[in-house]
Amino acid sequence: MTTGATDLGEDHARRLDAADPLAGYRDRFLLPTAPDGTPKVYLAGQSLGAQPASARAEVEAELDAWARLGVDGWFAAERAWLDADDGIREPTATLVGARPGEIATMNTLTVNLHLLFATFFRPAGGRTAILIDAPTFPSDRYAVESQLRLHDLDPARDLIVVRPRDGEALLRTEDLEGAIHEHRDRLAVTLLAGVNYATGQAHEIERLTAAVHAAGAVALWDLAHAAGNVPLALHDADVDGAAWCTYKYLNGGPGSIGQVFVNERHASDASALRLTGWWGNDPATRFEMSETFRPAAGADGWRISTPPILSMAPIRTSLATFDEVGMSALRRKSVELTAYFEGLIAALVPDAEILTPRSPAARGAQLSLHVPDATRRLAALEAAGVIADFREPDIIRLAPIPLYNTYHDAWRAARALAETSSRRRL
Ligand SMILES: *Cc1c(COP(=O)(O)O)cnc(C)c1O
Repeated sequence: MTTGATDLGEDHARRLDAADPLAGYRDRFLLPTAPDGTPKVYLAGQSLGAQPASARAEVEAELDAWARLGVDGWFAAERAWLDADDGIREPTATLVGARPGEIATMNTLTVNLHLLFATFFRPAGGRTAILIDAPTFPSDRYAVESQLRLHDLDPARDLIVVRPRDGEALLRTEDLEGAIHEHRDRLAVTLLAGVNYATGQAHEIERLTAAVHAAGAVALWDLAHAAGNVPLALHDADVDGAAWCTYKYLNGGPGSIGQVFVNERHASDASALRLTGWWGNDPATRFEMSETFRPAAGADGWRISTPPILSMAPIRTSLATFDEVGMSALRRKSVELTAYFEGLIAALVPDAEILTPRSPAARGAQLSLHVPDATRRLAALEAAGVIADFREPDIIRLAPIPLYNTYHDAWRAARALAETSSRRRL
């Protein structure tokens, strides 16, 4: 679909919805509503995914098990809490292109980044540097700076930040590759974003991981905005480790439990250094109360603490939907819906600069717009029933989520944004 060809009519949006094979999935979500009960246009799923309608019953089932069984819930519940990963591990592995044993569900994202660094950031000799991409999510930046300081290193010297060129919003792959190559003698670890939180740019994970390996370093990925959004093949890309949250595209609920990928090359190595706790012990001997830690097989050997059972219930039911739909059907709709939305914005909101890459291969379901007067216009969108989000200094982010957003949502949002423009063409 090219911009010039976008039909701007409401009828066209309705026709696209009528022809959408995934249209029925919207009913599986509870979307924020206006006071009169009409659904708002929810385009903030890249920040907090919508609630699966089935989540409440899943959480209540765990509350019931707790009430009825008390501590026996660990063993005797319909789904024993000890088996809480059943229904999570396999669909996650499918979604991110991993082997099931490479996935662990634990903690939350920034904590998991620290745990991956504990294993993979082993500065030695001249290899002391960490390389990250910009714009960097603040938490990731704080995490890597503190990792450097923990090793008595100085971020001013040992943190390499690769930024877009002056006057450009996006990071060129060849610039990242160039920096990785340039610093090959001192690079220990890279932490790159699968999809950038601010611009929505999707990076080439396989190509960049190969560049990192060619430099003799370890490739870690932050997939907060990639998991559930774009197709991933972590195992085949030979990624060393990755972490993501489940409350954005994966709809696990506010503060829901995070997940990690540890490549089986590392995960099968029982001697791999890590921060340990009893939940990472082999489940067969965990309750022997032994003084000797024996790591669980695979990425589960990186777990530390008792899992939050209530937090795992929504993500399990959400992943069942991803598994049912499949990433290829989801991606097909995502590419079409985002292109349609892009065409509407380009035609109706001439003062919006689209920062997100124009090529579908280089983006997911997010459009980041640079607009004059962004805070006022965000408030006007809100008043029109459109929930978007804002990132300093002047970026409006809009995410048409293929599982629950419609073409009509995109049409309503583009029209509402056009009405806030001083140069509107309506
Ligand atoms: C959302 C997000 C986070 C949030 O981390 P939490 O530890 O879950 O609060 C961190 N990094 C990136 C890149 C994110 O997009």
